[in-house]
Amino acid sequence: MDELKKTLFYQQKNGYDVMDAAERAALEDYCRDYIAYLDEARTEREAVRAAVRLAEAAGFRPLEDGDGPIKPGQKVYYVNRGKSLLLAVGGRRPMADGCVIEAAHVDAPRLDLKQVPLYEDTELAYLRTHYYGGIKKYQWTAIPLELHGTVALKDGSTVDVVIGRDESDPQFVITDLLPHLAKDQENKKLGAAIEGEKLCVLIGSVPYAGEGDNRVRLAVMSLLNDRYGITEADFISAELEVVPAFPVRELGIDRSMIGGYGQDDRVCAYAELAAILETENPERTAVCILADKEEIGSEGVTGMRSRAFEYFMERLIGGTCSVQACFSHSFCVSADVTAALDPLYAEVSEKQNAAKLNYGVGFCKFTGSRGKSGASDAQAELVAYLRRLCDDAGVVWQMCELGKVDQGGGGTVAMFMAQRDIDTIDAGVPVLSMHAPFETTSKLDCYMTYKCMKAAYNAK
Ligand code: MN
Ligand code: MN
Repeated sequence: MDELKKTLFYQQKNGYDVMDAAERAALEDYCRDYIAYLDEARTEREAVRAAVRLAEAAGFRPLEDGDGPIKPGQKVYYVNRGKSLLLAVGGRRPMADGCVIEAAHVDAPRLDLKQVPLYEDTELAYLRTHYYGGIKKYQWTAIPLELHGTVALKDGSTVDVVIGRDESDPQFVITDLLPHLAKDQENKKLGAAIEGEKLCVLIGSVPYAGEGDNRVRLAVMSLLNDRYGITEADFISAELEVVPAFPVRELGIDRSMIGGYGQDDRVCAYAELAAILETENPERTAVCILADKEEIGSEGVTGMRSRAFEYFMERLIGGTCSVQACFSHSFCVSADVTAALDPLYAEVSEKQNAAKLNYGVGFCKFTGSRGKSGASDAQAELVAYLRRLCDDAGVVWQMCELGKVDQGGGGTVAMFMAQRDIDTIDAGVPVLSMHAPFETTSKLDCYMTYKCMKAAYNAK
């Protein structure tokens, strides 16, 4: 009977029960590099910059107009406005046969400074913020914060701002109410306890010498002017992001997990980046996308709905076929994280179909919410293909869906790829406390996602 069960039942195994010592060593090597990348990439611009540096070192060169069609083995990249990155390695087969596309995003939930952010109240100076993406507001108070971003000046030049990263730098905080006086706050619903307009970053407290009002505000502006040459009006054309200052760390006494900000979705972005950097002469052209704006619906010129992607593909194709013909024969892995089953909150998941930590890369046939609304729902044939591909490559994987049917849900870039007539499926790393300032993943799942991405690029 046990034999029959083995044959007929779908049985999943913990990844640690199937890996040998060599693979465990490879896992540690991979995760060390991922941790370094994540620690450096606090914003989408920084994620792109760090990725370009790695790509250049691996022999990738900027794609120039008139470069196409891409040649077998040729390695190119294109940066879209500093916030999104597209890379490709030319395949042996023509572009008309389609590409293997992997699409992740490098934007993450955060607090953006408002365009007129600075004010003074009770001789303390603050910066007003407007949150970006889905956050639980209470998680952003009373934690160390950094300020990263770019100020675009009227003369056309830009100034990069990073405050709080360097050991010698100061950091910032959004204060919260002491429990002693939080009677009213604690009676509020969790989502209403901290108002969006109260997410103001404390930036300074020393008044500028002399008489008059707004002296702390003036002193803050004076320090920013000394450091970056900017004035208050320059905030108007700035993209400054308040991000958590926590360093990325190994978690657990067994060091089996990784804690850090922005793992949704830089964990998958790094997996597909590492995979394409190691891809030589693939059968079909390999395309790696690090998109922006996913957390706010993939809108905007740097989001996945932008035709910047078509323009990139057009140049790879170089007139050998239509972009649409290439799309129609392509295959896309929408590489995005999924929710891991959290035993502390097991009631929101349906255990049999939830992703578990250490069970490998999670495939989602569909995302969306309440009746698959907003999902691209991958073809069964495509799911079968991915099963075969990963089994043949020794990838530990699991099938999963995000939460109970009626509980809620989420989306990825998958539907925007599918709209282009590209066969698309979601696959990525299960995450605990997704969208929190400090997210948790398992090393094994990070590594297996990279292995899956590499197998897809190198498929025969
Ligand atoms: Mn995501
Ligand atoms: Mn997200």
